[in-house]
Amino acid sequence: MTLFEKIIARDIPADIVFEDDKALAFKDISPQAPTHILVIPKKPIPRVGEAEPEDEAILGHLLLTAQKVASDLGFNSSDKGFRLVINNGKHGGEAVPHLHVHLLSGRQMQWPPG
Ligand code: AMP
Repeated sequence: MTLFEKIIARDIPADIVFEDDKALAFKDISPQAPTHILVIPKKPIPRVGEAEPEDEAILGHLLLTAQKVASDLGFNSSDKGFRLVINNGKHGGEAVPHLHVHLLSGRQMQWPPG
């Protein structure tokens, strides 16, 4: 069982900000911005590189969930904004093998990312 599956199962505590039947959103334990939330599917898809065609609705749901959380926190406006990041594999910087979308906001983001 991965760390994030344990969070879904409430075996490990997390600061959960949103939940529905398909997704969970909780605060990142090591925030890289004033707001840093992880949006994960309840289905244990390891990474976007291993998603299947049947996961299309879940993948779309993750982005719409991130949009909802960003809106609820007041970041979904052109003068504020937010960044969504998905790390995939070693070179992508992935540490937890359960698909997650990072929602970062509350400061000016830089480009390119490191
Ligand atoms: P990634 O490097 O894209 O796999 O991101 C994994 C993220 O999970 C990192 O930003 C970690 O800070 C975060 N993380 C690790 N353990 C926990 C935890 N127990 N609760 C919340 N976030 C965590």
